[in-house]
Amino acid sequence: MRIGGKKIEKVRVYGDPFLGKKAESVKNIDDKLLKFSEVLTNTMREFDGVGLAATQVGAGIRVISLGVPIPRDENEVQIISSPGEALLLNRMPLVLVNPEIVSYGPDICVKEEGCLSVPDIYAPVARPSKVVVSAQILGGESFTVECGGLLARAFQHEIDHLDGILFVDRLSKEAYERIEPALGKLKRRYARLKFLRKLIRKDNE
Ligand SMILES: [Zn+2]
Repeated sequence: MRIGGKKIEKVRVYGDPFLGKKAESVKNIDDKLLKFSEVLTNTMREFDGVGLAATQVGAGIRVISLGVPIPRDENEVQIISSPGEALLLNRMPLVLVNPEIVSYGPDICVKEEGCLSVPDIYAPVARPSKVVVSAQILGGESFTVECGGLLARAFQHEIDHLDGILFVDRLSKEAYERIEPALGKLKRRYARLKFLRKLIRKDNE
């Protein structure tokens, strides 16, 4: 579909089995990938996401788009706490090819997360606060760098998508039970939509 002249893609929602698929590594960067990356970034921006993985728009390739904002203190001064943030934040939005977590730091932090594929549901997720990430920037260099802050969390969340894992799969038992009814609703909505689409297809045959 097109919004304001920009091509965007439909975001797959909880209940869609495609979200559980493991994505394949990208072997070569061609025109098709360049076009796809534009659509991925347009879609992320259209829905105000901090990140979007190819899996979420139904493509089984290891590509993510990131639009992580630069954190600032109350005086609007930038707070950059890791080499990864210094390298990447002022170049957002970025499309990253074959991103990988090389190692995890020892400290864990718990923060509320949400996801365009799990609309209107937020829950606290415990993740390592620092990770070393390697990836290739589309149209740029490859890097291996330590990331902290929201960037570290965004990388972990998006790379999880490429492995078929959602943030709701990483919750404590208590946090999961709190959102379980809302997840059930999303699942039923997906099943209903799928059923309706089947009916429409049959009607058109
Ligand atoms: Zn997500």
